[in-house]
Amino acid sequence: MTALRDQIMAQIRADGPMRLADYMALCLMHPEHGYYATRDPLGRKGDFITAPEISQMFGELIGLCLAQAWLEQGAPAPITLAEAGPGRGTLMADLLRATRGVPGFHAALRLHLIETSPVLRAAQARTLGRADITWHDRIETLPEAPLFFVANEFFDALPIRQFQRNADGWRERLIGLREGRLAFGLGGISAPPEIAHRLADTREGDIVETCAPGQAIAADIGARLAAQGGVALIVDYGDWRSLGDTFQAVRGHQPTDPLVDPGTADLTAHVDFEALAQAAPCAHTRLIPQGDFLNRLGIGARAEVLARRLTGPRRDSHLAAYLRLTDPAEMGTLFKAMALYPATTAPPPGLDP
Ligand code: SAH
Repeated sequence: MTALRDQIMAQIRADGPMRLADYMALCLMHPEHGYYATRDPLGRKGDFITAPEISQMFGELIGLCLAQAWLEQGAPAPITLAEAGPGRGTLMADLLRATRGVPGFHAALRLHLIETSPVLRAAQARTLGRADITWHDRIETLPEAPLFFVANEFFDALPIRQFQRNADGWRERLIGLREGRLAFGLGGISAPPEIAHRLADTREGDIVETCAPGQAIAADIGARLAAQGGVALIVDYGDWRSLGDTFQAVRGHQPTDPLVDPGTADLTAHVDFEALAQAAPCAHTRLIPQGDFLNRLGIGARAEVLARRLTGPRRDSHLAAYLRLTDPAEMGTLFKAMALYPATTAPPPGLDP
């Protein structure tokens, strides 16, 4: 029994069933008991592992992609280089190292990180070891400048709502109490405008998900790109249009019940990329599998160069990491990449048609 569970149950007793988005926000971001607020969840000993933690090649290639887009847009200066949800700062460290040789890029960039967790902010400061980082709680406070942005496994952590299609209309899935435990139930008929278009591709019993915070962030980024230039790379698991219940909890690399011991497991949902693209008032690339994206950026050649320097078990684990990032049976297809960019410029490398 966690303190957060007591608090959530008391809130439900007082106010009635809770939206899934409110439950997710409390579990992940509660300042005292929230999952991200209280720990570094990444790595083999943590609850899950992400692409930048698997291999340095991931951040390197993202860096070269952003720097190439910057060159193609005429090497503007100054620029905002921003990452949302940077975890331990590994992707950003690899990105910065890989772009050191791009003339003018480092002189032009101002580094901004969007991160709410104090534990992970401290980890990012340690990993990056530089004095010129500005942290933000939210995207809105980024400065006005061309924006070169990356987010890996960030949008999947944002709170979602779920709606089930019934014979009589949509009903929201809410979290209430049953026999002294947290349990899902259905609310009254409600028809939020953001799911009106889903009547065409759903049947009775289907669940659809919405992520208002993700759409608001995409809208903010898109407006900046259209006005100031830049590019935003979004990598996450999900689909162009997600269907069904994708809400999940992971603890110690294993799936677990998301309603048991709130605040102690990572909670995520698949990213609905179409909703992000439509919220952003700028151009978007098509959505492509992570494996294809990395292959098009040249991960094969980079993997070979690194492999030549390694022997024995270190070489084996490097090659396993390469496969893990790109193989369709591993992260290669489940994870996807999409870019937002100004309609007046070319799409970034790796995501061009
Ligand atoms: N991008 C990193 C970490 C992914 S974990 C990697 O690939 O390894 C999700 C990250 O998003 C964590 O850093 C978490 O603290 C952050 N995060 C989650 N929700 C957030 C929110 N609403 N605002 C800002 N950061 C958030």
